[in-house]
Amino acid sequence: MFHRILIANRGEIALRVIRACRELGIETVAVYSEADRDALHVQLATRAVCIGPARSAESYLNQTAVLTAAVESGCEAVHPGYGFLSENAEFADLCQKCGLTFIGPSGDVIRAMGDKASARAMMKAAGVPVVPGSDGCVADVEEALRWAEDIGYPVMLKATAGGGGRGMRRVFSSQELPEAFAAAQAEAEACFGDGSLYVEKLILHPRHIEFQIMADSRGNVVHLGERDCSIQRKHQKLMEESPSCALTPELRETMGQAAVAAARCCGYLGAGTVEFVLDGEGRFYFIEMNTRIQVEHPVTEMVTGVDLVREQIRVAAGLPLSFTQEEAAVKGHAIEVRVNAEDPANGFRPCPGKTAFVHFPGGCGVRVDSALYNGFTLSPYYDSMVAKIIVHAPTRLGAIRRMRRCLEELTIQGYPTSADLAYLILYHGDYLRGKYDTAFLEEHLEELLSWQSGGHEGAEE
Ligand code: ADP
Ligand code: ADP
Ligand code: MG
Repeated sequence: MFHRILIANRGEIALRVIRACRELGIETVAVYSEADRDALHVQLATRAVCIGPARSAESYLNQTAVLTAAVESGCEAVHPGYGFLSENAEFADLCQKCGLTFIGPSGDVIRAMGDKASARAMMKAAGVPVVPGSDGCVADVEEALRWAEDIGYPVMLKATAGGGGRGMRRVFSSQELPEAFAAAQAEAEACFGDGSLYVEKLILHPRHIEFQIMADSRGNVVHLGERDCSIQRKHQKLMEESPSCALTPELRETMGQAAVAAARCCGYLGAGTVEFVLDGEGRFYFIEMNTRIQVEHPVTEMVTGVDLVREQIRVAAGLPLSFTQEEAAVKGHAIEVRVNAEDPANGFRPCPGKTAFVHFPGGCGVRVDSALYNGFTLSPYYDSMVAKIIVHAPTRLGAIRRMRRCLEELTIQGYPTSADLAYLILYHGDYLRGKYDTAFLEEHLEELLSWQSGGHEGAEE
């Protein structure tokens, strides 16, 4: 087992990794930017190294600075968290060159899955159903038009290098395509430095269902059930739950096996997520694989009892998975709410500021993952997510009631957050019935926000 690990991240996920390391008796080295001198991960790590200015490109994304810190502080491994360098194949390769274990799959696997067009091709070859679409990238608008004609409208243009919901455009007719193509390409170019696009059939009113998988170096691959992440805004997740109301036991079994096949076909190691869209007829299609720990991983931890970050570290050290497929059974129901420092009433405008006061919920079946504390000032340079509230209960309704109670207890003063909106969703009839898809939030946003100003008459119990 490792003795010392560098954590190449910040915020709640850096704390999450520090906690797992402490329980394993592993020392931690935090890295931080000049804007994060007062951040909690700096306090809680065994030691901390400043790696540059506030801008991510000069600190958390500065591979040389991160690797130098790791080597000079005598670390044996690097945990990348999510975002930042976590899906950077070059970084994983460089870790290896420096004699460090990258806690995740190999650079080659990251590269293969990071290019969504090549990931689709691999999955197709392995018999995993993929969304009908172009074979690989399209060279120009004309080729995109030909594919769209072939697949049939509506379609979606997607960046092969995409992530975080960016570089995607829905297209409903050939007239719209050229403009959408230019917009998606420009966004992909700006966000990922790569404007390559591919074409996919737009699945109407799908649910986003993803499977957590874990693989060790001994050939064991298991899945830990699904997460329903259909409550989204601009293709970004806001609330997640496990299990999903949309799956029958048979469909769960079939999709779980497809997820395991997906991991096997690329020689996966560690924790990963296989994302699918599920249509109204029970047909599911692979959309992408995330080769890292996911924001919403606690939902799975709550229902399976497995510590996923601990397992990541163990399998990176060459140990076998500490549980079998049968032992990874799902029990009860878990929900996560992401709390972002943004104002839903003002187009979800990010609102960084000083945390005047924070109080988190607690009690039975409640988990809070956050790096906030009283007086902590949010930096505009980083992600707006300030906390994740996760609840677990024997039933879905029990989990919903528990989450409402948690959000009533939650107090964050200093800036608006998305928690109030999540609270309203927990009263919406369609959510309560489990009848929601990825269009839910967009379709009901106005209605939900009107409850906020005019009381709860519209809400169903
Ligand atoms: P998850 O399913 O784990 O929520 P997200 O796509 O929301 O995955 O990504 C997790 C974090 O990483 C978010 O903060 C998101 O903004 C960031 N992220 C993911 N992919 C990329 C990318 N390709 N470029 C920049 N940031 C990304
Ligand atoms: P990212 O890497 O940004 O997370 P994904 O490929 O996972 O991109 O897609 C993000 C979201 O966009 C999905 O959760 C889903 O809601 C929607 N989406 C993606 N592909 C399709 C599709 N072909 N049809 C309908 N919705 C899609
Ligand atoms: Mg995704």
